[in-house]
Amino acid sequence: MDRLKIGIVGGGAAGMMAAITAAGQGAAVTILERGERLGRKILVTGNGRCNLGNRNLDIDCYYGRDKEWIAGCLKRFGTEETIHFFQGLGLLIKNKNGYLYPACEQAAVVLDVLRNELKVLGIEVIYECKINQIQKDKNGDGILVSDGNRTFMFDRVILACGSKAAPKTGSDGSGYKLAGQLGHSIVPTVPALVQLRCREEYLKAVAGVRAEGKIFVYRGKSCIAEDAGEIQFTDYGISGIPVFQVSREVNYILREQKEAEVVINLLPGYDDKTFSQLIENRRLLQTDRTVEEFFTGMLHKKIMTLFIKLSGLKPNLSVEQADEGALKQVYALCRSWKLHVTGSNPYDSAQVCAGGVDVSEVTENMESKRMSGVYFAGEILDVDGKCGGYNLQWAWCSGYLAAAAAAER
Ligand SMILES: Cc1cc2nc3c(=O)[nH]c(=O)nc-3n(C[C@H](O)[C@H](O)[C@H](O)COP(=O)(O)OP(=O)(O)OC[C@H]3O[C@@H](n4cnc5c(N)ncnc54)[C@H](O)[C@@H]3O)c2cc1C
Repeated sequence: MDRLKIGIVGGGAAGMMAAITAAGQGAAVTILERGERLGRKILVTGNGRCNLGNRNLDIDCYYGRDKEWIAGCLKRFGTEETIHFFQGLGLLIKNKNGYLYPACEQAAVVLDVLRNELKVLGIEVIYECKINQIQKDKNGDGILVSDGNRTFMFDRVILACGSKAAPKTGSDGSGYKLAGQLGHSIVPTVPALVQLRCREEYLKAVAGVRAEGKIFVYRGKSCIAEDAGEIQFTDYGISGIPVFQVSREVNYILREQKEAEVVINLLPGYDDKTFSQLIENRRLLQTDRTVEEFFTGMLHKKIMTLFIKLSGLKPNLSVEQADEGALKQVYALCRSWKLHVTGSNPYDSAQVCAGGVDVSEVTENMESKRMSGVYFAGEILDVDGKCGGYNLQWAWCSGYLAAAAAAER
């Protein structure tokens, strides 16, 4: 019997996982990659260390319109399966508080073990081949894909072209156009896991400061997202893991309105009661001190100086003469500092893309409901995860499921 011919468009994390899985099941596999190399994005993951998965795999770490669908997929290929797969390729894995990395902490080594396996399995790779057309063959015998110069025919095709995030690594959004040719709907995309730009120009005064805190995102009066950790201040806005985690929600608000409101709490360890007690206790410091000296010791010096200024107080004024309302305002800013986000950095700076191919038009085996024989894998789908190895986990999971189904007769 002839081997099934499977074409995989895109040689990133999901595409390589799909290729190895399909070839392992006996299919003749070809990867069509627009760039000169495979897996360029893998090299930049986890600051070059590649956080390839997470022991704490929970559906709350994922976003998309259909979380139940995502959960169903992850149940079939989760963290254990990822560890087992990579161990099978010879990769030693280490667990840092649940975050999984290659033991050598080199993303390049993750790519090497994948590439070695492609070679061992005899998988063909065609480079510099940007697919821009996909259609059923007239006789219905197979699926045709073309880069404008060359046309290839396969029994099954897996679209693993990534999203629009980090286009320098090859993913330029062309996968959405291919899905569109098949009649698929695309959930609007926005940059995610990305820095936020704020209207407040005064942030320049605290550029470079890092502070532990909590960030809350508001839509009208409701808080729709929050996260905690080290927040970084830049001359244009805010960055750091907690900012990344909420950035997708902020960007979806910004699709509808000009600005989004975020509130930062730089003293998240205090509740209302303990904070009132703190203020009461600090009254003891009120004698013989300037405003600046009075507030010293609470937060980073530059942030406190800024809060004093924003409250209209002179730092050299004797605190006993300071306006009570202005002093309260400084305290209020410590726990509830409102910033107006006007945008995020562009896709170039984003780690992932929220939105993508609508999963209501894709089966749990990743097959298109619009054209049988076509499958999807990876970030091209409307699935994005938090920082912490969840996006690569999705790439491995969906790549595996797509190929396991595509390679079945
Ligand atoms: C800076 C950075 C750090 C990150 N760190 C982490 C991390 O530590 N942990 C984690 O889990 N996730 C991380 N991510 C996210 C993670 O890397 C991605 O979610 C994942 O790599 C997506 O895999 P993919 O195969 O779907 O897409 P990609 O890896 O983007 O692969 C798509 C491939 O398809 C090719 N292609 C695109 N269009 C076409 C076309 N028309 N024809 C042919 N080929 C095409 C591209 O050239 C590319 O090779 C990070 C991302 C970035 C940018």
